[in-house]
Amino acid sequence: MSQYTGVAVSPGRVIGTIYSMAPPVAEPPAGDTIPEGADPATEAARIPAAAATVQATLSRLAERAPGEGKKILEATAQMAADPSLSQTAQGLVTSGGKSPERAVWEAGDQVAAMLEGLGGYMAERATDVRDVRARIVAELRGEQAPGIPERDEPFVLTAIDLAPADTATLDPTRVIALITSDGGPQSHTAILARQLGLPAIVAAKGIHEFDDGTEVFVDAGLGTITDEVTEEHHRFAAAWTELQENPLTYEGGGGVLADGTRVQLLANIGNAADAQEAAAAHADGVGLFRTEFLFLDRDEEPGVEEQAAAYAEVLRHFPGQKVVVRTIDAGADKPLPFLTDADEPNPALGVRAYRTSWEKRSVLTNQLDAIAAAAKTATPGGAAIPWVMAPMIATVEETEDFVALCTERGLQPAGIMVETPSAALIADRHLTVCDFASIGTNDLTQYTMAADRQLGSLAHLNSPWQPAVLALVGATCTGARTAGGDPQAYGEEAQRPVGVCGEAAGDPGLAVVLVGLGVSSLSMTPRSLPAVARVLSTVSLEQAKDLAAQALAARSAEDARDAVRAGLPILGELGL
Ligand code: PEP
Ligand code: MG
Repeated sequence: MSQYTGVAVSPGRVIGTIYSMAPPVAEPPAGDTIPEGADPATEAARIPAAAATVQATLSRLAERAPGEGKKILEATAQMAADPSLSQTAQGLVTSGGKSPERAVWEAGDQVAAMLEGLGGYMAERATDVRDVRARIVAELRGEQAPGIPERDEPFVLTAIDLAPADTATLDPTRVIALITSDGGPQSHTAILARQLGLPAIVAAKGIHEFDDGTEVFVDAGLGTITDEVTEEHHRFAAAWTELQENPLTYEGGGGVLADGTRVQLLANIGNAADAQEAAAAHADGVGLFRTEFLFLDRDEEPGVEEQAAAYAEVLRHFPGQKVVVRTIDAGADKPLPFLTDADEPNPALGVRAYRTSWEKRSVLTNQLDAIAAAAKTATPGGAAIPWVMAPMIATVEETEDFVALCTERGLQPAGIMVETPSAALIADRHLTVCDFASIGTNDLTQYTMAADRQLGSLAHLNSPWQPAVLALVGATCTGARTAGGDPQAYGEEAQRPVGVCGEAAGDPGLAVVLVGLGVSSLSMTPRSLPAVARVLSTVSLEQAKDLAAQALAARSAEDARDAVRAGLPILGELGL
C-alpha cells in the first residue's frame, strides 16, 4: 500500500486510474541524419504522414473539448494541416540528409521565426507551430504526445505542474481529478481546478511513484491519494458521483444558517464575462472585482474613458447590488511595466498594490475617477453600488489617504483589504476611518506564514487553515465590532462589514469557520456557491462559533481542518 499527501485545493472524492502528463519532447540532436543507405524520399514522406496523424488526433480532441480548449485545439489542428511546416521539413531531409525528426524541429524554428517577424496575430501563432512540431516529432518517434494524455476513458491526471496551455485544454469530463507534485494552493493550476470544480491536490511529493494504470482513491478534501481502495472509499466516491449527476444549486438570497442567520454569498470576478457568469449563478453581488485585467499586458496605463467603459460593462450585471471593486493590485505576481519596478529584490514585500500610489499617484486617482464615472452610467434595472477598496494596506495613514481619495470623488463605501497582519491586528483603528474590510486570505496567509504563495515547496505553510491565519481573521472581526457602525447603514450587523474574498471563502468547511469568527460575507468563484450555501445551512451560528473555536485552538492546519470536518458530517455525505 502506498499513500501520498499533498495540499487539498479543490474538494471531491474519486476512484480512478492514474495517467501522468507526458514530458516535453526532447530536441533531436543537431546533426542527426537519416540512416546510411536510407532513401531520402521515403524518409521525407514520413513527415506529412505524421503531420496528418497529429492533425486527426487534435481534431478528434477538439470535437469533445469544452469552450476555450476547443478553440485552442482547433487552431493547433489547423496548424498541423498547414503544408508549410511539412514542406520545409521535407526539403531539409531530401536536400540536406537530415533525419525527419531533426528536419521537423528546424523547420518549426524557421516557420515560428517567420511568424514572429510578421508580428501581431501571426506572431502569436508561433507558439502553436512549436507545439505542433513537438507533436509531429513525438509521432515520428512513436512516443506519447506531449501534454495531457489522450485517453478515451476518464482518468486521474498527475503532473509536475500544468502549463497555462495545458490547463486550457483540460477537459473535466475526461480528467476526474488532478494531482501535481509542485504548485501551490494559489497557483493558476489550483485556481483553474476550483473554477472547473475539479478535485485537485497540489504539492503531493512522491505522486510520480505511482505507475500509469494504477487505480487510486483520491480524497481531494483531505489531500490524500492511496492505492488501497476500500469499501468505504467506494461509498465516498459514489457520493461524489451522485453530486456530479445531481448538482447542488444556489438560488441567491444569501447563505442561510440553520438558525436563520444570513451571510452574503458573493462572487470573485476579473472581467465582464465573469460578471455575467456570476450573475447567472445567482451571486448576491461581487465581493472582489480584480481590475488588473485592463492593465496586464499593457505598456501604458489605459485612459480614464476606456477604464470607465470597462467598469460599467461589469457593473451593469448587478443592478442594485454591491460590487466590491478593488483598485489596481500591481506588483509581485502581477508586475506592470509602467507601475512596478521589475528589479526589486523581494517583490512580494515591495512597492506593490496601494503602495505604488505613493510615487505614481495618478494611476490610482485616474482609476478612481473611472470607477466614479462608471457608477453614474445609467443601467436598466438600476445602478450597481460600487464598494471601492485598496489592496495591501498596512497603516491607518494609508487607509485615511485612500478613503480621502474616494470621498473626494463621491465613492462610498470605501474600504480596505486586510492582507497584512498589521491591518488585521489594528483593524479597529482602520475600521474607524473606513467603511468595510475584505480579508484577502491568499496574501494574509503568505504574510502571516512568511511563505511565498507561489512556491510549491512551501504549500503546506500556505494554508488558510493555519490557526495563526484564523486568529488574524478573528482579530479583524473583533476590530470591526470595536469600531462599531450603523446597523442600518449597509443592511448588515452592528459592526463594520467584514468579508473574505480569498480562496478560503470557497472552501465549504472553512466557510463555516469564517462565519463563526464573525465574517459577514464570503466571496468565491461562482461554482463554489452551491456547496458553501448547502454546508452553511446545516449549522447554527452557535455551532459555527464552536467549530471556529476548535479550529483556532488547534495545533496545526491539519488538526484544525480535521476537527472541523469531524463536526460537519454533511461534507462526507456530499463526497466533499
Ligand atoms: C487575496 O490575497 O486573498 C486576494 C483575494 O487577492 P489576490 O489573490 O488577487 O492577491
Ligand atoms: Mg491579494
